[in-house]
Amino acid sequence: MLQVKNISFKYKTQFVLNNISFKVKAGEHLSIIGESGSGKSTLLKILYGTYDLNKGQIFWKDQEILGPKYNLIIGPEYMKYVAQEFDLMPFISVAENIGAFLSNFYPEEKQERIKELLDVVELNDFANTKVKLLSGGQKQRVALARAIAKQPEILLLDEPFSHIDNFKKQSLRRSLFKYLKEKNITCIVATHDKDDVLSFSDTMIILHEAKIIANNSPKHLYKNPKNKLIASFFDEFNDINGDIIYANQLQLVEKSKLKATVKVSYYKGYYYLIEADLNGEKIFFENQSEIKKDTVISLEIIK
Ligand code: ADP
Ligand code: MG
Repeated sequence: MLQVKNISFKYKTQFVLNNISFKVKAGEHLSIIGESGSGKSTLLKILYGTYDLNKGQIFWKDQEILGPKYNLIIGPEYMKYVAQEFDLMPFISVAENIGAFLSNFYPEEKQERIKELLDVVELNDFANTKVKLLSGGQKQRVALARAIAKQPEILLLDEPFSHIDNFKKQSLRRSLFKYLKEKNITCIVATHDKDDVLSFSDTMIILHEAKIIANNSPKHLYKNPKNKLIASFFDEFNDINGDIIYANQLQLVEKSKLKATVKVSYYKGYYYLIEADLNGEKIFFENQSEIKKDTVISLEIIK
């Protein structure tokens, strides 16, 4: 188990993380969520032992993870970290980059392993391409493959799919997280994308103003968003008399007290997101079809 015990950290004067604690069981997938600048990347770097803490301790099983003051080489050997800005070796091929840290002692096994990793990140067609010729998204996939090449016990991923386009993202995400679960690799992901979290994380923590403001399963937090920040991570929502109501929890009815005037219908594929005016406040709800501007409609909350 990974145990983070009362850690505090600051770069300069202000604490980026202030007395934070959480645990991650072996094989579990945890997401770190928070607005830009909330300290997600800093927390991952700290878990990797990049900085010395101002306070607190971190343990993996019974080993303490220590910062540069106590270690010549940053990063315990059982852990891999893929940074937001990944660095690869540009002048050698994708396959060579992925195999860079694998032993040459058993060349056939090494080639098989590289092939397996190319499958996971869906880069088989680029095995022999030089990395400098790849797009940002392709490079990110090489960095992911290289990080799991030696099967770490813990994998830290910082915005792992941020450079990868929608055509590839869905299947890559499924393939990578399935692989990590099969191999029982503990995974901690910093992300701003709810699709990384909802289907693939066992637990999520939310960072805000240097604290963890929520730590629970994605399902629990989606169903019981205790504040607007949490709700806004998941979906479009409304504040109706102090209650957080997602746009998909409001539906059109024949008659109700909740009357609003339609302003805009946004096409979303299988539904429309309708923006309307409710007593001078903007509200959003989902509807099967477009609704004409200025139509007065009645709404009901379904929970
Ligand atoms: P996130 O990944 O959630 O966007 P970061 O961990 O990158 O947030 O940054 C958290 C805060 O720490 C920000 O205010 C950022 O400006 C600051 N920060 C990040 N890296 C450094 C650094 N190397 N030196 C000083 N301040 C930093
Ligand atoms: Mg970041």
